Amino acid sequence: MITKHTYVGGRPRPSGLEPFDKRYPATGEVIAKIEPTSLEQLDEVIAEAAEAQKAWAALSGTERGRVLLRAAKILQDRNEALSRVEVMDVGKAIAEAESGDVPSGPDALEYFGGIARDMPGTFHTYPGAVGFTQRVPLGVCAGIGAWNYPTQIACWKAAPALAAGNAFIHKPSEETPLVAYEIADALTEAGLPKGLFSIVQGDATIGRALCEHPGVAKVSLTGGVDTGKLIIKQSADTLKKVTLELGGKSPLIVFEDANLDDAVGVALSANFYTAGEVCSNGTRVFVHRSIADKFLAEVVRRTASIRVGDPMDRDVHVGALISETHMNKVLEYIEIGKAEGATLSAGGNRVRPQGFENGYFVEPTVFSGCTDNMRIVREEIFGPVMSVLVFDDEDEAVSRANDTFFGLGAGLMTTSLARAHRVADQLQSGSVWVNTYNICPPDLPFGGSKQSGFGRENSRFALEGYTEVRSTYMDLNNFEGAY
Ligand code: NDP
Repeated sequence: MITKHTYVGGRPRPSGLEPFDKRYPATGEVIAKIEPTSLEQLDEVIAEAAEAQKAWAALSGTERGRVLLRAAKILQDRNEALSRVEVMDVGKAIAEAESGDVPSGPDALEYFGGIARDMPGTFHTYPGAVGFTQRVPLGVCAGIGAWNYPTQIACWKAAPALAAGNAFIHKPSEETPLVAYEIADALTEAGLPKGLFSIVQGDATIGRALCEHPGVAKVSLTGGVDTGKLIIKQSADTLKKVTLELGGKSPLIVFEDANLDDAVGVALSANFYTAGEVCSNGTRVFVHRSIADKFLAEVVRRTASIRVGDPMDRDVHVGALISETHMNKVLEYIEIGKAEGATLSAGGNRVRPQGFENGYFVEPTVFSGCTDNMRIVREEIFGPVMSVLVFDDEDEAVSRANDTFFGLGAGLMTTSLARAHRVADQLQSGSVWVNTYNICPPDLPFGGSKQSGFGRENSRFALEGYTEVRSTYMDLNNFEGAY
């Protein structure tokens, strides 16, 4: 049994605290022991990060970028091995890990490595004086991660933070503590100086300490809405900068002029990818009445052919949910859906694949006949549960789609270009996808509106989020004072 520790300065540091168990979601077996970071250790980690950050910030963006580009290449070359660790962490199907979450980490390192040299300021002229602005790093930044996309979450936060000249401390979710070490090793091998990427382990205690610590300049959370609210409160005394990537209950609107095959395919992947454990999933599927029966029949037919089972099997589409507790929450929502009067059109049960009887698997599940006020339609389930709703006209679809305090993602399926623009423009959401879903290239910002959070991952907006603006005013003449 391996034991993993706090990682700082390019090497593990034992804390002596009682380790917690890391289980493989597909079997429920304990596969590693993780030693939490102590609060005394956290002080050391932050002090070492602050020291290392000074020299890192003094390098040119080009030099910093080169390290990130080398790390990206190392991770790309190790995609298969890294994906296996990701599968042990999350329980998702390896085919997904290899093509989705895992490569998206080096993609971010590559993108931010490339633009690290290009952080332009502005230049201003005045009579006898000039002014200019610069983007300067914040200092020590911290990331707190959810468990569904641990490689992506760590890299989406670390890459812009490091590119901008900060040190970065990552706290993965207790559920997925493993994959961050692979990223740390790749960064160290790529030449990242010691102390610039550290891993702290543990639960909300260590997360809270990161928020409250005066040595941390910014916290970026990926997590639930309630956790986001706590992060703001905990960061208030030190007036920390905060970025929040929170939950969602996103709409996917299927218009009568949509390509039906595409619409069904998009609805399935927008609900069942990573067993539905995706924050931006299109879980409220609004379908125009005129095509609703056909759409549902096709969704049910294709759902039946989704293979659930051993996540390491390349022919498996859907792996395990993260934990027993989470699986039970998802199964409870399925019972709630039935009790609320929704029609269970597909799935609805726990699955016990041969050899993985104790794993946390749930069938891809489709509810039809849903109404807007049902709990399965309003609350984030974070599992493979699709709710199908019927609408009659465009305005109604838009207003029902927007009737939620979430605003992370939204999708629409149509063959009309005019409608695509018109509807996309009205959806209250950080991201809108037309005729596809959940596509997040690193140069396009990703983040929430309303209670799905604020700040952005990816793109120049993320880079700016790890900097602040310094203004310099320079008088070119002799000073003529009033006294
Ligand atoms: P949680 O909000 O429960 O936890 C997220 C992280 O915050 C974990 O590392 C957790 O630690 C930590 N944490 C919990 N409480 C505190 C606290 N008081 N102070 C500091 N840190 C704390 O989310 P889950 O891990 O359960 O992930 C699922 C949620 O994440 C869903 O709501 C999902 O929508 C959202 N999410 C959002 C994404 C986005 O980009 N918008 C992407 C992915 C997920 P620990 O769990 O180890 O105790």
